[in-house]
Amino acid sequence: MDILIKDTMIITMDEEKDVIDRGYVLIKDNYIKEVSYGEYYGEYAGQNENLEVINGKDYCVMPGLVNTHTHAAMTMLRGYGEGLPLMRWLKEKIWPMESKFTGKHIKLGTEIACLEMLSTGTTCFNNMYFYENEVMEVAKEFNMRAVLGIAIIGDSWEQQLKQGLELRKKIESCKETTVTSMLAPHSPYTVSKEVLKVIAEEGKKINSGIHIHIGETEDEVNILKEQYNSTACELLLESGVFENRVVGAHCVHLTDDDIKIIRDNKVNVAYNPQSNMKLASGVPRIVEMLDAGVNVCIGTDGTSSNNNLNMIEEMETGALLQKLWYKDATKLDSKEIIKMATLNGAKALGFSKLGKIKEGFLADLIMINLNKPNLVPNYNIYSNIAFSANGNEVEYVIVDGKIIMKKGEFLNIDKEKIIYEFKKLCKNLMQ
Ligand SMILES: [Zn+2]
Repeated sequence: MDILIKDTMIITMDEEKDVIDRGYVLIKDNYIKEVSYGEYYGEYAGQNENLEVINGKDYCVMPGLVNTHTHAAMTMLRGYGEGLPLMRWLKEKIWPMESKFTGKHIKLGTEIACLEMLSTGTTCFNNMYFYENEVMEVAKEFNMRAVLGIAIIGDSWEQQLKQGLELRKKIESCKETTVTSMLAPHSPYTVSKEVLKVIAEEGKKINSGIHIHIGETEDEVNILKEQYNSTACELLLESGVFENRVVGAHCVHLTDDDIKIIRDNKVNVAYNPQSNMKLASGVPRIVEMLDAGVNVCIGTDGTSSNNNLNMIEEMETGALLQKLWYKDATKLDSKEIIKMATLNGAKALGFSKLGKIKEGFLADLIMINLNKPNLVPNYNIYSNIAFSANGNEVEYVIVDGKIIMKKGEFLNIDKEKIIYEFKKLCKNLMQ
């Protein structure tokens, strides 16, 4: 089914067209065939049984949001173990509970995560967790774009790396269009330097991206200083990890030299402001990284350190935090933060034709209802999306050319059933 969205405002994230006040988007198969101003009079304009027409009046079409760092199934632990600093929280609360997880927890936890992400405009997520085969099945079932990484952590690294390589082969062999993978060593303090070297080499052999936490807390800085007398960035450079395409989550505690290292090695930074604030990890120097030419994108992190997967909220918090940190209201404007949540995220995950409403780009897009009390007047659409919207205004979600949500309702997903089963499973987990 092809789709024509007519009579609509469009944030293209394409420098040439910028914002179209009134225009149309034509989608053919899984890509955007045409984007322009005014009415559509092309070959599909007349009676066409294979064309779904969406009236976009009072809506804004924009690229789907790209969540570049999350642990989707951590929805199982939303709100659990509140009020502890990162290391204690992980060791005393999160890791013991995660050890009880089975594939069923991952499946339902990811389903809830996908429901939440889609309903707040996220169409693509970069995941680091366990049982990624289950995550793949859920992503396919929901038709979400997903990048899957099996977390490599601690003593079981060899087996986890093997699973990661097998997952990649499986994805390649079934020619998935919406699912890809990355190798995902957890962090430089939970994986040894020798193992990082092995992962870097394996990554290069198969041209895989690497998804890793970098410089999240001061504790991490101290551990690495004591163990290697290096920073996380120096260690990742020396071990060859940075010779791959890397998405580094957090990057809170970086020295000036570290920022040079990530710039020179084209490391993509996933900024997770709410998680950093909630765990009191610190404030990453995002504006300086952007000024240095680093590709910075946005992630929510898992729901037990956020506590939701709402990228629209994350954009607002992310921009506000940087303004406050630099005591400068001109820093990180609304257009820049939206670019980070769309185009920069797509680039970080290795999708060259994603993140713009532009001819030839993948048809992952959302429609925001502008006829809401919190979105009028509309003097500046970027500002309204970044600072006034809260995610509830997302009413249409299209991924890979397929409509997933229409007028605020999921088309092929039984939301009530998933929520019912998820609540039951969480209750059993805590008993
Ligand atoms: Zn994380």
